[in-house]
Amino acid sequence: MNRIQPTSSELMADTPYGPLFGISQETYNRVWQSLTSPDGNSVTYVSMEIGADRDIYHPIKNLLLEMARREDISPDLQPMADKFLHGPGKIPTYSGGLGILAGDTLKSFADCRLPVAAVSLLYQRGYFSQLVDMNLGQVVWSREWYPREVPGLYLLHRPDDPQTPLTVTVDFYDHNDQPIQAVARVWLKLEIGSGLDYFVPEFLLDYDIAESPDWIRKAAHRLYDSSSEASKAIQRRLLGAGVLPVMRTLGLTSRTIHLNEQHGVFLVLALIAENLQRRLGEDYQSRAGDQDILDAAEEAARNVVYTIHTPVKAGHDRFSRSLYQGLEHSFYRRILQLLAADEQDPETYNFTALAMRANRATNSVSRLHREVTRAQFPQFRERISAITNGVHHLTWISDNKAAVYDSAPELAGWRLDPSVFTRAHQLLDNPRFRQDFAAAWQKDSKYLIDHVNGMLSEHRQQRISTWIDPPNYLSYLGEKESRLNAANFTFGFARRFSTYKRADLIFEDLDHLARILVDQQWPINFIYAGKAHPADKPGQGLIKSIIDIQEELYRRTNGLAKLVFIPDYDMAVAKMMVAGCHAWLNSPKRPLEASGTSGMKAAMNGIPNVSIMDGWWAEGYHDGQAGWKFGYEGPVNPELLSEQRAEMLYSEDAASFYEMLPGLLATFYQQPEREEYLDRCLMNLALNCPIFNTHRMAAEYLARYQLDLPAETTGQMEKFLALYRSDLE
Ligand SMILES: *Cc1c(COP(=O)(O)O)cnc(C)c1O
Repeated sequence: MNRIQPTSSELMADTPYGPLFGISQETYNRVWQSLTSPDGNSVTYVSMEIGADRDIYHPIKNLLLEMARREDISPDLQPMADKFLHGPGKIPTYSGGLGILAGDTLKSFADCRLPVAAVSLLYQRGYFSQLVDMNLGQVVWSREWYPREVPGLYLLHRPDDPQTPLTVTVDFYDHNDQPIQAVARVWLKLEIGSGLDYFVPEFLLDYDIAESPDWIRKAAHRLYDSSSEASKAIQRRLLGAGVLPVMRTLGLTSRTIHLNEQHGVFLVLALIAENLQRRLGEDYQSRAGDQDILDAAEEAARNVVYTIHTPVKAGHDRFSRSLYQGLEHSFYRRILQLLAADEQDPETYNFTALAMRANRATNSVSRLHREVTRAQFPQFRERISAITNGVHHLTWISDNKAAVYDSAPELAGWRLDPSVFTRAHQLLDNPRFRQDFAAAWQKDSKYLIDHVNGMLSEHRQQRISTWIDPPNYLSYLGEKESRLNAANFTFGFARRFSTYKRADLIFEDLDHLARILVDQQWPINFIYAGKAHPADKPGQGLIKSIIDIQEELYRRTNGLAKLVFIPDYDMAVAKMMVAGCHAWLNSPKRPLEASGTSGMKAAMNGIPNVSIMDGWWAEGYHDGQAGWKFGYEGPVNPELLSEQRAEMLYSEDAASFYEMLPGLLATFYQQPEREEYLDRCLMNLALNCPIFNTHRMAAEYLARYQLDLPAETTGQMEKFLALYRSDLE
């Protein structure tokens, strides 16, 4: 890495809100200036969750590690370095793909020096931790976390009174339109660009403080709290209604607001009200007619870019209208009545309907998802386009693979510019590179399998020492029988356990699966992980079925097949799995997986995907050069949106998997040199890594944001656009 060694003063910025570690004063001033400049040439990115754990990627952590190795950390830097290198590495305020996408996106914005600030919530109880019990299935527990202990997370203080935390206030309203104040502290996390000279601030609102009423605090405790409809509705409002207050308090001027999913759409109501006030004056509420509101909405929509993430029902907020009496001002309820009507149910507000109306650009998250979204919302067809998701390559490429990529002159500059990976084609015939790649892959596999074996041993101990019956059949066998072998073909499958992702699909016909393996004596590991939302009973049922299948699968294959579940899926487990398995499995019901991102993480590590032709894989499959496909791939008509078990195409798609599997395993096992298998690995890297990364995605969003930025900033994004346009066929 050709980085200039910073002095300690270059790693500290004084700001009116308190000191920040990891950036220089100059960087702070420059970025802050662009976020607060009167021209409004910046973006506010609003997301319910942001996943960006320091333990798997942080440019300052990498720098400090390097400095520590050289024993080059000055004494004044040491305390901060200690905290940074050894403090908690995880901020448990994400649940899955949506939040991690947000984190990856913000990291790429920072890398590409785009002026963006994010607004989200800080949940003092986070998202739940998962235990899994052999008999009970998923058990939810709440792991304490302490924001103050997390390095790189700062509580902001008042510029005029540095001892007092900065707060912002959001009004709720009782039945008589009397305000009830919800008060939030503001936490700041920085996504620092890989060049260390730029950052994207994330402002996390924490309403769980003494100044807020108890019912607000309770609704703010946990991400996606679903203890009641009211709690859910309040949580959405805490995000959306908090956006303008936090922007105004800090002086952020962005004209463009990006809603990452509709959760924060309440913001639009505030924009409409501001607009009406400007047009009609202080008593706008009594003066505004319906047409005034619609006109104001149209104007507000010009400031909003919206990304819709899923065709699945559970992803779209619909709340009973009666809920909002006692939460929302009657004038705002009037706006909701006009703009958030639900087509099916007059007693319901539909927040996707509101978000769909109140934006100037709606982005779906893959080409296929664009077609599905257009079919779902034909009246907004014109405005719906595709920006296929990506992942942050610096976050997801394992250290072992990164070292191999670093060693290839063809890939020089890949850290700054992932489009460089198009040149991986040239490496296909390079025996030295192939060997190095295979060796790095073996190390990653060993790391994963050692972790699994360690977990199984630990669970074997736990059996006698805790009330939890560990979730893996293998930990009830002897140490020797149970051990997984890293040389055996290993499938990785990990994501949220939602029914449409069909985690149990490939076990639909165990006899058939067992026959394939036993016939050829193919040993195989299946490593699974994922959480189900605490209110999602069918999702939890899927976890239980994975556990229940383990013994039978093992017996019928005479121990050839070992199916393991790793509890408490998070980014660290994900990174270990996407780099260490031999193929990444994805078995959703087409077309319900709007994009999917975990397969892209595998691609960056040169791991082939084995997937239904859904979401991004319909774009990344390349006639089988980059991996394997199975299952239904016909037209995506509306009947296919059903999530009923009987209509989930289990037997058809499983049969297709069994048909594909022998070819896949033969490629892996029957060629001692694995040359053909390795070709797919490197083709997945060469074809998909240059495209399905968040730098390219940021470039496509930048084109939608309509910012007026210096040519040096926009110029470097051109190469990504030249490579791919999601919105073309
Ligand atoms: C990438 C990731 C996801 C998203 O996976 P999908 O395949 O897109 O569903 C979920 N959880 C974690 C921890 C991840 O790292």
